[in-house]
Amino acid sequence: MMNTPLTISSMLERAERYFPNKTVVSRTHDNIYRYTYEEIGKRARALASALTKLGLKRGERVGTIAWNHHRHLEAYFAAPGIGSVLHMINMRLPPDHLAFVINHASDQILLIDEDVLPLVEAIRPQLETVHTFVVMTDKDQLPSSTLEPLYSYEALLAEGDDCFAFCDDIDENEQAAMCYTSATTGMPKGVEYSHRGIVLHSLVQGHVDTTAISENDVCMPVVPMFHVNAWGLPFSATFYGATQVLPGPAFTPQLLAELIEKERVTFTGGVPTVWLGLLQVLEHHHYDLSSLRAVICGGSAAPQSMIERFERKLNVPFYHAYGLTETAPLVSFSRLKSHQKKWGKGEQYQAKAKQGMAVPLIDIKGVNANGEIPWNGEEMGELLIRGPWVADRYFHDERSTEAFKDGWFHTGDVVTIDEEGAIKIVDRTKDLIKSGGEWISSVDLENAIMSHEAVLEAAVVAVPHDKWQERPVACVVLKKDKQATKEEIVDYLKPQFAKWWLPDDVVFMEALPKTSVGKFLKRALRKELFNQSRF
Ligand code: ADP
Repeated sequence: MMNTPLTISSMLERAERYFPNKTVVSRTHDNIYRYTYEEIGKRARALASALTKLGLKRGERVGTIAWNHHRHLEAYFAAPGIGSVLHMINMRLPPDHLAFVINHASDQILLIDEDVLPLVEAIRPQLETVHTFVVMTDKDQLPSSTLEPLYSYEALLAEGDDCFAFCDDIDENEQAAMCYTSATTGMPKGVEYSHRGIVLHSLVQGHVDTTAISENDVCMPVVPMFHVNAWGLPFSATFYGATQVLPGPAFTPQLLAELIEKERVTFTGGVPTVWLGLLQVLEHHHYDLSSLRAVICGGSAAPQSMIERFERKLNVPFYHAYGLTETAPLVSFSRLKSHQKKWGKGEQYQAKAKQGMAVPLIDIKGVNANGEIPWNGEEMGELLIRGPWVADRYFHDERSTEAFKDGWFHTGDVVTIDEEGAIKIVDRTKDLIKSGGEWISSVDLENAIMSHEAVLEAAVVAVPHDKWQERPVACVVLKKDKQATKEEIVDYLKPQFAKWWLPDDVVFMEALPKTSVGKFLKRALRKELFNQSRF
């Protein structure tokens, strides 16, 4: 059979050819833009020609530090289209990490939002490889800046060739994109994505038993485009000709609700804290969310109570998706099998609160000291993954040998796998609470606490203990108009957990520290508890 290459430009070409009039709606600080795929295609080609004129060569990297908007989408296709590599940079990294990832990836050109100019100016002296800066601004005039040479994105596009032909000799195994992921210790680790991996990942995102993205959808990725390619959604939505809604910079839950209502969004994805925020807004304001056919939640565990609120109260189907930067990211999806749909509602929600079955082409297993764990939903082990969009190394990094062994990626996530093949993330290895030789899942406790009607957010961390080695402490943020005491929270947990699982303490806080992508930052919480002399 023919060995036609799987390339990213072919995905955009499909949108240009078959869906020229479908739109990409893009919010920036100053505007809501509406471009058709025909226009996005032309602009991506003009950007590709401009990057070539600026001297970007095949295999070289172009970094983006940007929110979710149309210019970022254009870069998603322009850079891989000329055989260069798109490096999506997390703008919330601390400055030394930001400089590290740009240098480590040897980025040549940086495409940046105006918001992050001061950040980039501050680290400019440390940047070793960048020769050109481009600001992705709405404004006619370039903002004043110490960066040079500094170009305006729109001025470059105006001079670019919007009929520019993408490279036609790209090998599908060439690198197309890269992201860095946080490490427990040390600097972030780089992960490269091949054209082949991204195309196959997009194909599976269109599969009816996974996210099922199609031309019928209005797809709004809330997950940032600097975080694992916004879970691949901009690629697959373009491939299938879905309408896209890109929510832009500094959005609030209210703004997301408005966009869903106004643009009739059918499909959206983000981390649990985003959906908790949306539920909060909906307690006080009414928005019409009836267009939604799927809310996807990933990045950390979605509490079952949240899934139930979306489905029962709002009538919005809610799915758990699991993955990592190293897996581009989709690994598993919590869609019920046909026979599970006949189960009672309670059992169905329990199943949906798991991270689901591996998607087609992804292979998984759990292993512990006794070998491979049985699929009985009880025995715990570390999750290992392999598949065509799973990385096989970190970019120029010695830490590769720990994580990539014997043809499997070792995730550092502790899981059970049930009879249906559904994965349940018990914890990250580093967050498991080891109490008296037994394990306590911080995730299970958090999810139970977050189902209490007075609780907005909860994170459970291990604190050192003389006798038991570690004990759980819950950090809780209450809803604005609600009250609860430590005793009430612990009493609420009692029927659900063995006595030794119950937190030793409940600490009420104004807010929980979060990572750059909105996950609870447990390292900072432990430090905070230490500073408060809680251990
Ligand atoms: P970071 O390490 O910076 O958080 P990733 O985004 O790659 O970077 O995080 C991957 C981790 O997020 C996984 O190892 C897992 O612990 C967690 N995770 C991702 N999706 C889910 C999910 N649906 N449920 C529970 N945990 C999840």
